[in-house]
Amino acid sequence: MKKITKAIITGLLAVSLGGLGSLFAHDWYNHRKKQDFVRDRPAITENYHLASLHMHTTLSIVSGRPDGEKTLEEVISGAFDNDYSIISVTEHDNEDPFQILSRSSQDKNLEDYIDIKAYDVEQINDYTVRITDLCKVDQNKLYLLRGVEFTTKENWHLLGIAYSEMPEPFAPIDEIINSLKEQDAIIIAPHPSHRASSGMGHENVKKYSGYFDALELNGCFPFPINYVFNGITERWSNELGIPVIANSDAHIRGTYFNNFLSLFPKQGFDEEDIKGYIRHHLSNGTHKNIEITDSSLALYNRFLLGNR
Ligand SMILES: [Zn+2]
Ligand SMILES: [Zn+2]
Repeated sequence: MKKITKAIITGLLAVSLGGLGSLFAHDWYNHRKKQDFVRDRPAITENYHLASLHMHTTLSIVSGRPDGEKTLEEVISGAFDNDYSIISVTEHDNEDPFQILSRSSQDKNLEDYIDIKAYDVEQINDYTVRITDLCKVDQNKLYLLRGVEFTTKENWHLLGIAYSEMPEPFAPIDEIINSLKEQDAIIIAPHPSHRASSGMGHENVKKYSGYFDALELNGCFPFPINYVFNGITERWSNELGIPVIANSDAHIRGTYFNNFLSLFPKQGFDEEDIKGYIRHHLSNGTHKNIEITDSSLALYNRFLLGNR
């Protein structure tokens, strides 16, 4: 065998072994970080609300198929099991989760989507429902905020949360963003640096920077691209002075409540003005972002097998 062929084969072997090694190291590191987070959780939940403002369920339909794997009921019970207290289920271009819960709060016989006997659902205002787990009434309440992940006419994604009337999806970004702004909604640029996931890119983040409450650190990227794209988003955040917020953007079973979330200090919490409360902490930098992507190997497996 020629020397050059040998060198190429040795090089390829070294790169593959190095890649595999770094995957294992990443999983080990994240496992440790997760253990620390879970161990500290009683103290954390005493002082902070655990929040994720971007996730999808089976009600999220893309190209005629559900693109989230968990049902709304599974997401609600998962939120209680993982001590989350503020969530927004942001389906692609529909607000069915909020509408279903809003109707459940009036019609206690409605059991199509959640087991209404297990939960008490109250609508607090036009963008907030409060859910109580009737088996654990002493536990934190769960607040679900009305929200949507809009697809704009330009095919960019945009998160609108805590509005009173849903703007039309698939409209030009200017129309959606203006309507959300008029309603004082929380506006977030999701996965802005990842163009392949319909992120809007640097020029638009810059153009609309005055409108955004936050840029998103996205929890559904597998290792190592999570570091690359979320790193770019952090750079833009520093450059443009827009806060970042960590969200799971869960679609795949293993990524729900994966510890990619934000923590908001409990002081100043007002269930009737959750958007004011969130905005206050975002703009003062008093929230914390937790970024722990577990099981990169399992995720890779699913991505590689196309088993989404
Ligand atoms: Zn998206
Ligand atoms: Zn999404």
